[in-house]
Formats: sequence, structure tokens, C-alpha cells
Amino acid sequence: MTAGFEMVVGLEVHVQLKTASKAFCGCSTNFGAPPNANTCPVCLALPGALPVLNARAVELALRVGLGLGFTINDRSIFARKNYFYPDLPKGYQISQHDRPIAEHGHLDIGLVVDGAPRVIGVTRAHMEEDAGKSIHDRYDRATAVDLNRSGTPLVEIVSEPDMRSPEEAGAYLRTLKQILLYLDVSDCNMEEGSLRVDANVSARPFGQVTLGTKCEVKNMNSFSGVERALAAEFRRQCGVLAAGGTVQQQTLLWDGANQEIRPARSKEGSSDYRYFPEPDLPPLVITAAELERVRASLPELPAARRARYAAMKLSDYDVQELTADPATGPYFESVLAVHPDAKAVANWVNGEVRATLNDTATAWDAVPVTPARLGALLDLVRDGVVGSSAAKKIYGMLLSSGDSPRAIAEREGLVQVRDDNALAGWVDEVLAEHPAEAARFAAGEKKLQGLLVGLVMKKSQGRADPKLVNQLLSSRAAG
Ligand SMILES: [Zn+2]
Repeated sequence: MTAGFEMVVGLEVHVQLKTASKAFCGCSTNFGAPPNANTCPVCLALPGALPVLNARAVELALRVGLGLGFTINDRSIFARKNYFYPDLPKGYQISQHDRPIAEHGHLDIGLVVDGAPRVIGVTRAHMEEDAGKSIHDRYDRATAVDLNRSGTPLVEIVSEPDMRSPEEAGAYLRTLKQILLYLDVSDCNMEEGSLRVDANVSARPFGQVTLGTKCEVKNMNSFSGVERALAAEFRRQCGVLAAGGTVQQQTLLWDGANQEIRPARSKEGSSDYRYFPEPDLPPLVITAAELERVRASLPELPAARRARYAAMKLSDYDVQELTADPATGPYFESVLAVHPDAKAVANWVNGEVRATLNDTATAWDAVPVTPARLGALLDLVRDGVVGSSAAKKIYGMLLSSGDSPRAIAEREGLVQVRDDNALAGWVDEVLAEHPAEAARFAAGEKKLQGLLVGLVMKKSQGRADPKLVNQLLSSRAAG
């Protein structure tokens, strides 16, 4: 049904900024407080209350703008976006309209199509405040309103209609979220509403330049939900067009439970906003010095970190894993500072350490094994003091013991045996116990060596140095 049609997608992403207080008053932004606990005359819109812009929110908005390569407007204007809704007591939302704080950005979403990297245009990022929340399931036949969220600072990031598939939309969102987490401007928690996505989607016959009529899809609460909703809406529109109909512009809601699109109630779809300049707030002026200060405070971003790790000759997999979130890299690098073998450190950080954190729901800035101790363990492996399976046992004990890796290795009898006489004794025993294999090996059947090494390792309870056992067996075969 979708054959012959092209999908066109633009995304609007609302990001809740990580401030302690709201955009225009001193109320807390803490999530989960009792309903209406975090409110004051300003965010309740009581008569005479005046908004005062939160400087920290401006700084975080500038970080978003600079991190996404936007042009920052040195003078931006706040506007009143008028609409009536029960959880918006002012009857308008303070937002930015024709002159936002940042414009003309772009995002490389890490996909290559027809040999070219996909770079999505980002139209603008503007500051605005959040509305409150209507609660429909608390009282019988009544709607309750919680205004704790009212006035929480947001940045809305609006893309160009540059995406052509659900996969591209998903890649855009994952790339954007990763950068926002690196910038430390938001916790990007979709369940708590600190990152919300609305999608504009349309279908047009391949080759047609003009855009089709778009519909807005809301209410998607995961990135995979966005991808499924886009696919469903595209199928619906293609069905209408293929049957000779016309798509009606409307707002739709994604019903994740039933995996289907349904029309929004008319209130949720009102798009006929009236804007006018907010008379209670002066234009927002960003000085060159302020912009430079924020620019100088930006962290290393994911693309730069990926390039730096790739230059360490790490695999694509290792690079992706080490840069997936902002906190893994600093741990990786602090281990690297004491044990400068990037591949060995990456294997452990992406393997054992990550598994420990997953099992114990621990964050990267609280890894139970310090970089110094992990580095000391890797030194033991490099120097042949312990084998790799013994190293994993020692790592497990590091989690509960304060002893050094070497002390644990000695205490637990895990130090690798490299003594030639001991190794030769084990080899002799194994060959004596398996005369048929020994004879074939002696006759030149080299592929038996692996089996014999395994038997020696088993006999030594894992303590024999496998490298030396291999050397010993090779020399026997040759002799
Ligand atoms: Zn307030």
C-alpha cells in the first residue's frame, strides 16, 4: 500500500531543562511532589504577579543551541501563545515565536544513505514554559489539575521535514538525546515527561517536490513508539491517497497499548494560536562575553569523543559502547591512565564492569572497582601472573574485598604457574593418560594441540600458563 509513496517527517522535541527552579519564578521543579505543592502567584497566574526570567534556564538553552551548532540570536523575544486549556491558568503560554534564542542548526544522525551521511536540518530552538497537568482518573466525573509543572523551563527543538523513514526519525532522536545528555542540560527521562516528541508526517508520491498535507502525531512515550506511530500513520495516509482521497490535516494520538493512531479530541488539536509579544518580559539579550563563557564550558561532545577513541584503534563496537552515555568515557580513560592498553581496558569496561553495573543498577560515576585497582588487575594479566579466567574470578572478589588484586590472586591460589618443571610434569601426565592422542600428536597431528592444552589447563585447575603449555607442546611435536 505504501509502494510509490515517500514519507516526510519533521519532529518537535520538548526538552525539560535541568534547573532547580521554574522559568519565571522561584518554585521548585522537583518531580513527584504532592499536587500543587510547588506553586506560587506567578505560576498560578494570580493577578499582578510578574515573571522574572531564570538565568540558569537561559544558560542551559544556550548550551543546547551551541551544542547543536545553532546560530544564537543576541536578542530574542518572548511572546504570549494564547490558548485556553484547564491546566494553563494564564490562558497563554510564555514562549518564543518569530525571534527564538537559536536558529539554523543541523544534526548528523550517524546513518549513511546512498553513500552520503544523513544530516538533518534543525530549524530552531526556542525557550518556553510548560503547562500544568489535568488528571482524569483521580475523582469520579471530575478532572483535577496539578500545576506543579506549570512554568517549568523547556526548550523546544524543531527539525526541518528532512527525515524520510521511521528509522531516520529514531536515529535523529537517539542522536539528539545523546548530545543533550552529554551537555547535561536535561535528564531526558521520557517517563517523567522531561523529553517529549511530537511528529509531523506526510506522504507524497515519489518524485513530487511539494509536500503533502501533514498530520501531527502526539502522545508517543518512547523512541520505538515514535517509529511505530510514524509507520502506522504513513500507512494510513498512503491508503487514503492510493484510494484517490485527500489527507485531512489533523492532530492524532498514538495509542501505544493498541498500536494504533486515533484522532485527538478537538481541544488537543487546536492549532490556531494567537501570538503577541509578552509585555512583562524585556527582550532577552545575550552578550558576546556570556556566549563565550557558555561556549568555553561545553563538554566534549559524542562525535569528538568517538573520533578520539577510534584513533586508539578500537573497534566500532567498542567505540559505540564507550561513548553511548557521557559517563562511561571518563571511567575508561581513568583506567587507561594507569594501564595504557586501550583494547584490553575497553574489553573489561564493556564486559565485566558494564555487567556489574547492569546487575547492581549502579551508575558509571560509582563503579565499585576503582580505576587503580582495575588497572592493577590488568597489569597482572599483561604480565602473565594470572590467566584470563582467574582474572574474572579476582574481579568478582574485588567487588567485596579491599585487598589488592595480587593479594587476592596469591591467597586464592590463582597465580599462574610458569615453572617449567611443574608444566612439564602436567604435560607428561596428560600424555600418559591419553596414549592414543599422544601418539597421533607425536605423529604430526597438530590440531590435537588445542585439546591437549585444554587437558593440561584442567589438570592444573586453570593455573598453568596456557602460552607456555602451548610452547612446550609445540616443541615436543617438533622434537
Ligand atoms: Zn511559582
